Amino acid sequence: MTDKNKRIFLSSPHMSGNEQKYIQEAFDLNWIAPLGNNVDGLEKELADYNAINGAAVVTSGTAAIHLALRLLEVSAEDTVFCSSLTFVASANPILYQGATPVLIDSEMDTWNMSPVALERGLAEAQADGSLPKTVIIVNLYGQSAKMDELVAICDSYGVPVIEDAAESLGSTYKGQKSGTFGKFGIFSFNGNKIITSSGGGALISDDEEALAKSRFLATQARDQAVHYQHSEIGYNYRMSNIVAGIGRGQLEVLDERVGQRKAVFERYYQAFAYVPGIKFQPELADTMSNRWLTALTIDPEVAGVSNHDIIDRLAEENIEARPVWKPMHLQPLFDGVKYYAHEEGNSVSDYLFEYGLCLPSGSNMSVEEQERVIGIINEVLNK
Ligand SMILES: *Cc1c(COP(=O)(O)O)cnc(C)c1O
Repeated sequence: MTDKNKRIFLSSPHMSGNEQKYIQEAFDLNWIAPLGNNVDGLEKELADYNAINGAAVVTSGTAAIHLALRLLEVSAEDTVFCSSLTFVASANPILYQGATPVLIDSEMDTWNMSPVALERGLAEAQADGSLPKTVIIVNLYGQSAKMDELVAICDSYGVPVIEDAAESLGSTYKGQKSGTFGKFGIFSFNGNKIITSSGGGALISDDEEALAKSRFLATQARDQAVHYQHSEIGYNYRMSNIVAGIGRGQLEVLDERVGQRKAVFERYYQAFAYVPGIKFQPELADTMSNRWLTALTIDPEVAGVSNHDIIDRLAEENIEARPVWKPMHLQPLFDGVKYYAHEEGNSVSDYLFEYGLCLPSGSNMSVEEQERVIGIINEVLNK
């Protein structure tokens, strides 16, 4: 039985049941604080899962990016390159540091950062002596960017990479876990992500010294002294032990959640892959996308309907669907910021924003609910 009044979200929390066990442990031990067994446990389990040396868990993915910028000593004199097609959280920390963002377009094979645009941007920056301190590469909707090519380009200019894997936890690129390709990787456990701690994030790296420094910065940068002494700017970014307990219960079922998201994608694919004008976000060869959100483009000239026709019709039925992220170079916040399109006169992210559509993709959406979504979209398509 389908409950027609129940809202269907793009992506909603999906608990395993074990979260309560870890929370209870925290209560039993009275570690109701931003440190304790769950914080240590989650850091270790996350590092193990991703086969990387360490993780530092924090209050959000945004905080993790901010800490990565601090560790790379990004300051007001610096520029930072960043994927344009992303959620604003990827780029906001650049502004926190007073640095200058430079935005890089996507390519069509992954919808992520274009190696061609990146190369052009870095070559020009080198020519005028303004190489960025770092490049933030985003993996959209679970699909890894072309990491080998992008990292090789950054290496050739001696610029370290921060991999924003907030949406791609559990995905792989050539068999290696997404988030582990740069100097630093970041994850998010926000309520709408593939797993959630209700809110939180992580910084991961092979550099354990840098992670130790990140924990120091995340704890108000308190110097070693009995009295409270501070020599640099710090933050209150450490994750609560209760929140970390939720994260541990979630990490246990991450692979299961990836399988469920992929099954959701597969059902949409079966339903719409052969509709003229519809193209799904590609999964690059030798990569595995967690399919956090099923995303596609719809060409209204061919399909006869637009992404907004579908979004509006689903909204009437209490179903959440959205366009693809509005690129940062089109945001009022980044007005006047330098932008490198994939090719002169061909901005791929503009195209994806105009024609893109994200469908409800929660791992706890029932088959009946998904069939309801598919049925309504078919009605719109067949009008
Ligand atoms: C969600 C998200 C973030 C930020 O994570 P928060 O935990 O919400 O701060 C960063 N980048 C991308 C691409 C995201 O989708």
